[in-house]
Amino acid sequence: MSRIIEPFRIKVVEQLRMTTREEREKILRRAHWNLFRIPAEEILIDLLTDSGTGAMSSEQWAAMMRGDESYAGARSWYRFRDRVREITGFRQIIPTHQGRAAERILFTCLGVRDRVVISNTHFDTTRANVEFLGGRAMDIPIPQALVPAEEHPFKGNMDLVALERLLGDPAHDVACVIHTVTNNSGGGQPASLANIGKASELCRSHRVPFYLDACRFAENAYFIKLRERGYADRSVAEIAAEMFSHADGATFSAKKDGLANIGGFLATNDDALATKEEELLILTEGFPTYGGMAGRDLDAISVGLKEVLEEDYLRYRLAATRYLGNKLTELDIPIVRPPGGHAVYVDAGALLPHIAPAELPAQALACAFYLEGGVRGVEIGTLMFGGVDPQTNHERFAPLELLRLAIPRRVYTQTQIDHVIDVAAAVADNKDSLRGLRIVEQARHLRHFSAKLEPL
Ligand SMILES: *Cc1c(COP(=O)(O)O)cnc(C)c1O
Repeated sequence: MSRIIEPFRIKVVEQLRMTTREEREKILRRAHWNLFRIPAEEILIDLLTDSGTGAMSSEQWAAMMRGDESYAGARSWYRFRDRVREITGFRQIIPTHQGRAAERILFTCLGVRDRVVISNTHFDTTRANVEFLGGRAMDIPIPQALVPAEEHPFKGNMDLVALERLLGDPAHDVACVIHTVTNNSGGGQPASLANIGKASELCRSHRVPFYLDACRFAENAYFIKLRERGYADRSVAEIAAEMFSHADGATFSAKKDGLANIGGFLATNDDALATKEEELLILTEGFPTYGGMAGRDLDAISVGLKEVLEEDYLRYRLAATRYLGNKLTELDIPIVRPPGGHAVYVDAGALLPHIAPAELPAQALACAFYLEGGVRGVEIGTLMFGGVDPQTNHERFAPLELLRLAIPRRVYTQTQIDHVIDVAAAVADNKDSLRGLRIVEQARHLRHFSAKLEPL
């Protein structure tokens, strides 16, 4: 069978509500041109995020009924812990309600104040947690990662020359290095095992902890199987285990490759660190056998972590993203090439050169997609990563102005994705008429979630 099809059938459906362009104009104005402020009911195809928006399998729903809601030592906890240990190889597993809780606990316990955290690219919550705790987040993707049109099999790789220089520089007190797999903010691009291994070696020789931000470890592992020499005949689970074997620990959001709607964990082999982390966990997340989760969440994740490593699923998952990405390329819409694992990133900077970064071209494009066809994407550009740099007090800009179209797992059919392609074509036909936006109200941290904007 050469056609890659959805390896599942639909059992429960959720009604979508159609809106008119006039309605969407009003909705956009009411939302202050911030798509996070639009109620989901007023969205047709929601590509805001792949985080927690996936469809669970019948096996996951069945597992939820087995959820044990005991406060301490629930059966669900032991199933969860054993599954995470089996996949990651880490001894200490700390459950958290989301990935960002794992980040906050990790960075608090490592102590990042006046220190540096290095990543291929920090995800927005990762950067915000480092900065909120008084640390400095530095991104060192390989140079090819910043050239959207360039084809490269492992654009999620870390720049090892820059890493070696930073680790050896006495001016930088490096608290930790965290490799994001796949690199979400850098285009959903994978990192190779060679790169992960060498980054890990460099960290070890400088006695700096090396972590994986493992949210999309299964997608990354499948890319390695497809693209890295020597891995074609290895199972995705084996490849994932090898990725984790290079790390001192990991943070994880189960809303991605956990195939669940909520949850996460922090993992390590450092027993002393784990003891500190558990103290903090109890303070804000919950008892160490549930973190911030219900027993049924733990069970949904345990099953999700098994299903996400099935190769029929991963083959379909990457094919779905590639389909959207390649269709946009055929329409001459610039995207980050090649298409990533969980999302397609439209290069709004290249598509809309008449809108300066300060006027938020990717946000303008996001609003245009909504207006045209009720499609919600998310800006990954200066609205998300700009603002005043807490270290220098200067206005900063994102390296790229991207509109991310994230694909929820096992949710949309190919016809619905074809609608997104039609919308993109219509917006691109009228691109010269699009104008930029101005921020009228913003928060100090993670401003993109709540900012109010207006068209220029
Ligand atoms: C989603 C995500 C996080 C944060 O996880 P939450 O569950 O949303 O808190 C961290 N890193 C990456 C790469 C992510 O995609």
